[in-house]
Order: sequence, then C-alpha cells, then structure tokens
Amino acid sequence: MEKLIGTICLDCEYKVANVTDLCPSCGSENTESLVIENRGTIYSFTIVHVGFGHMASRVPYALAVIDTEDHIKLTTVVEDVPDLDSLKIGDKVRFKKMDEMIGPIFQVV
Ligand SMILES: [Zn+2]
Repeated sequence: MEKLIGTICLDCEYKVANVTDLCPSCGSENTESLVIENRGTIYSFTIVHVGFGHMASRVPYALAVIDTEDHIKLTTVVEDVPDLDSLKIGDKVRFKKMDEMIGPIFQVV
C-alpha cells in the first residue's frame, strides 16, 4: 500500500503532512521525512458543488480536514463516500492514494 509521507522537525517536533526541507513552525532545516499514520477522522469538511480546472469533473465531492491518528491535520479530498449528505465530522477515513494533481486522497472506511 502506498504510504503517506510527511516531515518532522527534529528541533521542535512539529509534524506536517507534506515533504518539505523547512519546518513550517520554526524555520529549521533540521527535518526528516516521516511516514504518517494512514488512518484518521474527519475534523471538518465541506461538500464542493462547483469545481474548476481538473476538479470540475469531480463535483460534487467532499473536501475535508483530516485529523490523523498521529494528530496531523491535512486538507484532502475524500472519495468513496456512499452518501455525501450523511458524511459527518468524526467519520473514520483512511489514506487511499496520492494524486499528483490533488495531493493525498482519503476514503471513508
Ligand atoms: Zn521546527
């Protein structure tokens, strides 16, 4: 299974869900890549009805902030939602794949 790779700062231990050389929290370059826990819950979300560019064909879709089990928050598209109207905060999701246009994609479990 594809892994979700992020970055941890070795100075302040800040974790972020993308690969970066510079800590977004303290600016340190003393960072290391980290495999992020691929399970999480929906922290907040919105249903997108109007897309543009490469997202236009996806609408309607769920755009959510996921709180992973190691407490990293990331914004992601959630796929395989059986019913967008019944999606709610706290629903369990897991990492599905990395999309080169969109970034990480999660799915409802
Ligand atoms: Zn830092």
